[in-house]
This record gives sequence, C-alpha cells and structure tokens, in this order.
Amino acid sequence: MARYIFVTGGVVSSLGKGLASASLAYLLKSRGYKVRIRKMDPYLNVDPGTMSPFQHGEVFVTDDGAETDLDLGHYERFTNISSKKSDNITTGRIYSDIILKERKGSYLGKTVQVIPHVTDRIKEFIKKDITDEDFVICEIGGTVGDIESLPFLEAIRQFSNDNGKNKTLFIHLTLVPYMKASDEIKTKPTQHSVKELRSLGIQPDIVICRSERSIPLDQRKKISLFCNVPIDNVIETVDVKTIYEAPISFSKERLDKQVLKHFKINNKNKANLRPWRKITDTILKTQTEINIAIIGKYVNLKDAYKSLDEALTHGGLYNNVKVKLIRIESDNIISNKIKNKLKNVSGILIPGGFGKRGTEGKIAAIKYARLNKIPFLGICFGMQMAMIEFARNVLKINNAGSSELNKNCYPVVGLINEWNKNGKIIKGTDKNLGGTMRLGLYKANLLKNTKIRNIYKNQSIQERHRHRYEVNINLKHKFEKKGLIFSGISPDNKLPEIIELKDHPWFIGVQFHPEFKSRPLSPHPLFSSFIKAAKIYK
Ligand code: GLN
Repeated sequence: MARYIFVTGGVVSSLGKGLASASLAYLLKSRGYKVRIRKMDPYLNVDPGTMSPFQHGEVFVTDDGAETDLDLGHYERFTNISSKKSDNITTGRIYSDIILKERKGSYLGKTVQVIPHVTDRIKEFIKKDITDEDFVICEIGGTVGDIESLPFLEAIRQFSNDNGKNKTLFIHLTLVPYMKASDEIKTKPTQHSVKELRSLGIQPDIVICRSERSIPLDQRKKISLFCNVPIDNVIETVDVKTIYEAPISFSKERLDKQVLKHFKINNKNKANLRPWRKITDTILKTQTEINIAIIGKYVNLKDAYKSLDEALTHGGLYNNVKVKLIRIESDNIISNKIKNKLKNVSGILIPGGFGKRGTEGKIAAIKYARLNKIPFLGICFGMQMAMIEFARNVLKINNAGSSELNKNCYPVVGLINEWNKNGKIIKGTDKNLGGTMRLGLYKANLLKNTKIRNIYKNQSIQERHRHRYEVNINLKHKFEKKGLIFSGISPDNKLPEIIELKDHPWFIGVQFHPEFKSRPLSPHPLFSSFIKAAKIYK
C-alpha cells in the first residue's frame, strides 16, 4: 500500500503549502520513488472553472481536461508529473455526488450525514486511482480553524486510524512571525494552531515553520515541546530568493529524510538538487533584463496568470535574460496613448480571457504590435482578438467580432462549430457553464515551412485547451491571401489552432494554453522562442 502524507496549514493562508508539498514530492521522486500529489479544496464550487481569477487566481487545466486549483500547476512544474482529474476535489464535488446518489435512493433509506457519508467520500477520493505509488501527498486547502475544512480534517484523521500510523504522516505548516519591536521570533501562533489541530484528533508528525528569519535552537525546542513533535521534525522554511530554491532549502532542512525516517525507510539515494542549483544560480546572476507587456483584465491580481508568469520566466531562463513583466490593465489602453504605454517593451502578450470588458484595448495593442513589428504572442482569447484586429484593419471587415461579445457582429470568432448541430446548440450554452468548454489535450498538425513548425520541430503537437469559441475556418482563404497563415490546424482540418503573420518577425496566436506545459527544467519552446525574439528586438 502507498504511504499517505497529509499537508495542512495553520495561522494564516498563503504560507506556501503548495510549494512545500511540491518540493517534497520532487525530493521523494528524485530519490527514486513513484509519487502522486493531490489537492482537496474546501469551497463549495464543484470545480474552480466558474470562479473569477480575482477570487481564486488562475484555473489550471490538466491533460485530461479537468479545471483545477492553481496549486496543481506548482505540482506539475516541480515534479514533472502530469496531474489528472482525480487529483483535485472540492466540497462542492463531494456534496453534488452525494446528493445525486441520495436522489437515486442509493443510501437505502439511511439518513445521509457528514460523518460517515461525506468523510467516506473524501477517503475514497484520497485512495482513488492509486496503483503502485510509493507516496501520495495530499494537500488540504484552507487553514486549520476554518469551518469548511472540518470534514476534510476529520476524514484524514479517520484515514490514519483506518490505515495505520506507519502508512500515514501529518505535516502542519505554520507561520512563525518575527516581531521587529522586540526583535523576537514568536512561537505562540504555532502552538495555538497545533493545539487546534490536536483538538480535532490530529497530532502532526512534522511541523514546518515559515519564518522571515532562521529560528534559533531555543525556539525550536519550544515548538517541539509544546507541539509534541521531536525536535528534528521541527523544520524551518525561511523565505527563499526564488521559488526554485525551495527544493534545495527543504532538502537542507532534511524534510525528505525525516519523512523517510517516519516511515522507517532506509533509502541511500540522494535527491538530485543540481538542476535547481543551476536555475537558482542563473536567476540570481542574470543581469540583462527585457520588458514583456501582459495586457489583460486580471493583471492586478498576481496569481491570475500564474502559469503564464512562470512560463515567461522559464523562457527567460532558456535565453539567459531576466523577464520583467509589465502588467497592463486592458481597460487603460487608449489608442492614441498606446505608444506611451508600450514604449519600453520588447514583447507583447495577450493572455486568455472572457467577456467584453477591455477587449478594445487589447485589439489596439495588437495593432500596435503588428504595425511596429514587436514580438507578439496571443494565447486563446489573445489569438481570437488578433484575428478580429486583422479582420477589421487589414481585411476591412468593420464589424468583425466574436459572438461571445456581440451577437450582431460579423463572427470571425464564433461558438465551436461542432456544438452547433443544425442550428441547435448542444454544448456551451449560457445555461450550463460548468465544465462545458473544450478542455484538455487536443492534437494539432503544423504546416510545413512555418515559424511554428520550426519552433516545435515537430509536425504535430498536443496542447491543453480551455475555450468555448473558435476562429471561423471559412475565412481561412481570405486571411491567408493577406499574409495571415493558419499554421496549425486540428486533424479534421476544421479548427484553427495556430496563426502567424508572414511578414512580421514574430507574431503568433495559439488557441490553446502552452503555459500549462512549461516547466522550469524544460521550458516550453514557444516561450523560449518568444523571449528570444524579444531579446533580438531589444
Ligand atoms: N473566451 C474565449 C472562449 O471561450 C477564450 C477563452 C480563453 O482565453 N481561455 O473561447
């Protein structure tokens, strides 16, 4: 049976539980184990797919088409293990499954209750789809003390009881604040948080203390004493200079060693930290900087484009440049002042998006990139906007638009064709927005002698999608006559996947989200190439 590691958080949110879990997963994987890493989210949405990025940051999409929490992106980037649908669950999903079952009469007249029905369902999730894994790391979203997380905490308590201490391990991540006024490190919040956890029947085996400064031995002893954990299992995590240093820092603190010790495993392999050292080194040493503008609707929230920011950093790493992201709110772009806004940028990127607000600003920025030969990458909505810009300004179709934004426009972009069966819309209607997009991996064939073919060095690719609308294939000929090529297309030749401009140094739009597949240890070729073009432009 696999060994299960549960990661909870206390004191405050955003302590980096995801990063700690992902780093531990890397360390164990690198020691030769098969690892799986998953997330339980206590909110009532069935999945984060319908949530605004302002609420919950980016929605991460897996190969098999699940819309998941952005922490799964961290997991993938650190472990290079592709997550699956079965790796993320929410309270909403659990309740909706249970209620469906109840309506069908599957509970045979019983009263359906949080204990045991909800907790049983959580325990099923924890074990689901696990075969020969050595370790399963389960992160529990939220903070201990939240009402919403109670059923999850109860379920993992039961799980440990059901499966034995030798098969389970509890890690609790807390904050150890530094008080400037008294020049002291405070352990009390950690003590209280662990006390809260113990009142729910969970005794943590390892406490990870997030701190601004290194925690002196005396304080560690105090945490060990009050929290009832061996001193070696009080692990500190001091702020790192770059997140890529996290696996190095956790290894230094012997997190993986203590985990193995708990399970009484004697493993002589060492985790390979060389790639992370190399990356950290490059990041800290690199001087040359280029500015890349990200023009979107959610730029004020840092996590809204998490994978994208990461992918651009990876592209920078590949090219030995620091990528400085200039986040521009698309609403603030006014055509006649655009030059001012974009004067110092070496590349322009329009990310995925939904809805009308800010679209005219995006279209104006695309026109600027096209005319001034600035490297441009349009992702999903960004590509759709690029098509509208070209249709309006080059093909002179004045009312060119997307039927997502305006039902009366000339639809250069419209609802995915295959969903429109003889005038009847079978999918993606306004009535059911949850999980109804074209989601996950789809294949695209790349045209010979195009930039994109040269970038991927492959005749076909598979990328992750998340969209409801598509570029109107019937206009292909019209666009191509004016120099905009459909350089990637679905295998049935119906769905434009990639477009590029012939007489522009680097102008590419993609219907998919390449950012989800970029990894620090293997940057995505599209981002490496985009940053290279930006470096040349500079
Ligand atoms: N709103 C657009 C669509 O649904 C684009 C989605 C996106 O950018 N992910 O097709």
